Amino acid sequence: MTAQLIDGKLIAQQVRDEVAATVAKRTAAGKMKPTLATVLVGDRPDSAAYVASKGKACQELGMGSISEHLPASATQEEVEALVKRLNADKTVSGILVQLPMPSNINEERVLSLINIEKDVDGFSPLNIGRLAQKGREPLFVPCTPYGCIYLLEKSGVKIEGANAVVLGRSNIVGMPAALLLIGKNATVTVCHSRTKDLPGTVRQADIIIAAIGKIEMVRGDWIKPGAAIIDVGINAVPDATKKSGQRLVGDVNFAEAKEVAGFITPVPGGVGPMTIAMLMKNTLRAAEIQDP
Ligand code: NDP
Repeated sequence: MTAQLIDGKLIAQQVRDEVAATVAKRTAAGKMKPTLATVLVGDRPDSAAYVASKGKACQELGMGSISEHLPASATQEEVEALVKRLNADKTVSGILVQLPMPSNINEERVLSLINIEKDVDGFSPLNIGRLAQKGREPLFVPCTPYGCIYLLEKSGVKIEGANAVVLGRSNIVGMPAALLLIGKNATVTVCHSRTKDLPGTVRQADIIIAAIGKIEMVRGDWIKPGAAIIDVGINAVPDATKKSGQRLVGDVNFAEAKEVAGFITPVPGGVGPMTIAMLMKNTLRAAEIQDP
């Protein structure tokens, strides 16, 4: 293996330790306890599991958590009323609406209602707008792309001046990741399903952020020697040797890529643990904004 492994689990633990230490200091000083309210609508088991793990992380770091659950039959008005109530609740520092919501709910309208000071997921149009504008700072950066950039910086990868290729343009990963890289003075190409020469474009990249949700699509011969690879993809493939009958792989063919790249994140254990760690960091920041 030539690439240096970027250990997301370790770096996420360091972020969590720093957050826990600051939370303990704040609590001792009688300041607002960082408290995350999660909103789950419907019964998707994966969403329920994500929300539960976020609540557990809050507890482990000495933070408060409130979990709100509405049935799949909830109306737009009921979801909006809940968000408004949480906006007004002075004990709540951050609000996270778990996506996707049932198809009858207009997600954009719900997200745009979240008070910008409590928007710890960073998805409100105001935060994304600020991220996209030169000289403006969002109050919160979306957690997964925030984790990607944090991993690059912690690993000593130079972003300024680098050619970065982002695979995927979703609102939650690809697009904010591209905006963050531009803000850090990389030259950024964003690829998507209509991109013509994906391998040729990726071959130009000093930094690759892969977020397409396609099993090991990025091959070793797409990679410029020494490039830094952040693999956001989480894809399940059948594996009879595992108790669950499956294992997780990324969007990058790890076995091939690690022989060419300079840095690479594993799946699992790369970006995954960073997402919750950055959510905790954002929730602390929300409390610091509301009660400095
Ligand atoms: P989306 O499905 O919302 O977006 C996928 C993007 O990839 C789209 O922009 C799409 O293009 C593009 N794409 C799809 N197929 C191709 C292709 N063949 N060639 C080039 N581009 C393609 O996914 P998300 O952004 O939500 O998630 C991406 C991956 O990251 C998933 O595996 C997901 O599980 C994982 N993920 C991991 C997280 C973590 O914490 N580690 C958090 C969030 C996501 P187009 O826009 O043209 O349709």
